[in-house]
Order: sequence, then C-alpha cells, then structure tokens
Amino acid sequence: MKELTCIVLGGGYAGIHAVKEIQDTIRDKTEGIRLRLVLIDKHPYHTRKVLLFKPAAKDQDITIPLLKLFPSGVEIVQGQVTRIESGEKRLLLQDTAGNENSMKYDILVVAAGSTVRQIEPNQGGVALTGLEAARKIHQIWRSNLMKTTQIRDASERARLMTIAVAGAGISGIETAAELAYFVREDAKRLGLNPDLVNIYLCNHNKRLFQEGPVKVGLKLERSLRALGVTVCHESKVLHEQKGVLTLSTGRTLPVGLCVWTLGLLPNPMLAKMGLRVNSEGYVLVDTSYRVEGAPGVYSIGDCAHIVDSASGRVDGNTCKEAGAQAARLGRIVAADLAGRPAPSHKSFMDFFCFGLGPEQGMAWTRQWGVDFVFTGKLGLGIRKYTWDLASLLK
Ligand SMILES: Cc1cc2nc3c(=O)[nH]c(=O)nc-3n(C[C@H](O)[C@H](O)[C@H](O)COP(=O)(O)OP(=O)(O)OC[C@H]3O[C@@H](n4cnc5c(N)ncnc54)[C@H](O)[C@@H]3O)c2cc1C
Repeated sequence: MKELTCIVLGGGYAGIHAVKEIQDTIRDKTEGIRLRLVLIDKHPYHTRKVLLFKPAAKDQDITIPLLKLFPSGVEIVQGQVTRIESGEKRLLLQDTAGNENSMKYDILVVAAGSTVRQIEPNQGGVALTGLEAARKIHQIWRSNLMKTTQIRDASERARLMTIAVAGAGISGIETAAELAYFVREDAKRLGLNPDLVNIYLCNHNKRLFQEGPVKVGLKLERSLRALGVTVCHESKVLHEQKGVLTLSTGRTLPVGLCVWTLGLLPNPMLAKMGLRVNSEGYVLVDTSYRVEGAPGVYSIGDCAHIVDSASGRVDGNTCKEAGAQAARLGRIVAADLAGRPAPSHKSFMDFFCFGLGPEQGMAWTRQWGVDFVFTGKLGLGIRKYTWDLASLLK
C-alpha cells in the first residue's frame, strides 16, 4: 500500500469542496493508495464569505468550525502558509504562536482565495472586507440610529438615517437589500419613522447585473426599489468625507455611512509563496488545474487563473465555479495518480442568484437559449440552497 499525503491549503469554498471530493474520489476508490488528507487554514473555521452582508445588517455568526465540517478522516491544521518549496515538495507555515514549521506533501491543492479590493485611506466609509468590517458597519449604523433619537435637527436626522452602498455587484445588491430591511426594523424598534431611512446603491455602470440580460437587471432594480433602495446608475463614489458623499457625477449626498463593496483581488501572498503567477497575481495552471512548474501541485478557486480552452472564457471569482472546479479536481487527481488522461476544465453554466433581504430573492439561468427567472420566496429558496451547498451544509 502506497501512503500519500495530500494537503489542501485554504478552508474556503474551493478548499472544503476539494477535501470532500478528494476524500470521496480517491481515498475510497483508488486501489493501492492510502491517503492522508490535511486541511490547512489561517482560521479554525470556514467563513461563509458570500454572507458577509448578514453580520453587517444583523448580529449573526457566519463561520463554521472546520472540525464540524470534517469531524474525522481529515487532519485540520491552523496556520498561515508562507512558502511553497515545490522542488522539495514541502511547504512552510507559521502556527498560531508564530513558530515556523514545515510539512511535506505528495499532492498539494492551493485554494488560498482572494481578498476584497481596498479603498484608499482618504476615501472614508468602511469596505466590506471581512467579519471585523461587517461588525463595524453594523455598529456604526446602529449607533447612528441611536444618535438620531437624541437629535432635533431634521437634516442631521436625515443624514444619520442614510446609508450609501458603493459598488453594485452581487455583494452590493445583497448588502443594500439586507440593510434596507434591518435598518428599518431597528428604526421602528427605536420609535423612529422607518420611512426616513434612505439606502442608496451607487452603481458605476449603466445598469445592474452586467453578467445577464437587461430585463433581469431591470427586474432586480424594481425589486430593490420596492424594498426602499434607491439605485443611482453611472455614479461612481469618489469618497465620503465628514458625512458627505461625492459622486463622479458631481452630485453630493449627506450620509451617515458609506459601505464599499468592491471587487476581489487574488490573495496577495500568492506572489510571495513561490508559485508562478500572472501579471494580476493569479496562479498559472493548465486545463487540469496543475500549477505550472510545480509537480503534484494544483490550484483552484479565486486564486487561480482558470480558462476554458474551448471557449477561451476565464472563470470568475464565484462559489459555484469553485465548487465545480473542486468536483473536477477530485477526478483529475485520481486520473493523474492512475496515469490515465485527466478531465479538462469547462466553464460553469450561466447561473446567478441574489438574496433580496430576508424574505425574497431572485435566481436567473439561461438554458437552451431561454432565460429562466425565479423571484420572491422561490428565488430566496434557491439562493439559500446555493449558500448551504457552497458550505457543505447540503
Ligand atoms: C462580500 C463578498 C460577497 C460575495 N458574494 C458572492 C456571491 O453572492 N456569489 C458568489 O458566487 N460569490 C460571491 N463572492 C465571491 C466568493 O466569496 C468567492 O468566489 C469564494 O469565496 C472563493 O472561494 P475560495 O475558496 O477560492 O476562496 P476564499 O473563500 O477566499 O477562501 C480562501 C481560504 O484560504 C485561507 N488562506 C488564505 N491564505 C492562506 C494562507 N497563506 N495560509 C493558510 N490559509 C490561507 C483563508 O483563510 C480562507 O479560508 C463574494 C465575495 C465577497 C468578499
């Protein structure tokens, strides 16, 4: 029996699915191999990153202990990987006490993810970059509402009850909708008029949902409007200073808080880890996710530059793509171990969904050239299913 060590770096969406798929595909079905599976993450938990808007709107835990996801059969190691020495098939990691350790691997899956694009220090507001930022956003708007109960000046009250969300991708849309619901709920509880709560969603583009059809973008906008969100198109937020938001159009808006929901960037540590990355910092892989110049190393998820060789389409930074890549990776690793031809990457189908507050949602897919749109409770049901599926809760 051959003993192999497979390390998965990163307990995000790509990493946890990679562990599950490798466990299912190889350990139980590849004869003559005993696989030791190790999952390394900086944190002892998996963060449900796509739900970051939830703790920004309501006190809510969106983490799941990795030991709960993998109670047996997987070694969970908490530490920060600092370097991959692919020649030696070894990685270096810093444990929680700051000690440097090294670990040998036969197979390594790099799923170190992405970070949220930062704002400049003078741009004001808070970027929804992680759990701490989400809690800060929650604390600021709640404290603004509390202040409003003590203030008589109408314009200052209006300002404190106004929030701008800068960036109208899926994250911005979901954040604006969730805030619209919970800020109004809290305003009511404090005896304030909930109709005075203003949520602006500032969109740099001409319409919402650039990835899909115009009519779905318009439908989303109507739903947001019904929830009390004002969408401003072609309005890039430049900065928020002393409670005044300045837009690229020249318009200014008094706000109590500006929440930035900007795009994602590959994990900046990747460039220093010793793997080959492209000019944007994504790990370079072949069509079967094998990292160039590093035998036994694969990379999937937000950190990898993954291209469908048939269509030339580059995978986006989304959970659904990470999950599909991980499912294929299990079969790829099994094929590579057995010396068989491995499957190649294929783009995921057109499918997007949105949570629109805690009571409704929307899902869109295009199949056989036909658009299917699901709204309301059904839309939310689909959305919740995808959230749970992505975190191995289904
Ligand atoms: C606010 C927000 C909203 C989003 N909304 C959506 C959405 O609605 N739908 C959607 O599909 N996608 C959404 N995304 C994108 C989605 O979160 C990513 O595509 C997904 O997280 C990718 O998974 P991943 O496993 O590749 O990376 P990540 O989830 O980033 O996981 C990477 C993991 O690696 C660990 N790690 C990183 N570096 C190291 C290191 N050096 N050592 C040890 N561990 C390390 C991290 O701790 C983390 O657990 C959103 C992202 C954000 C930030």
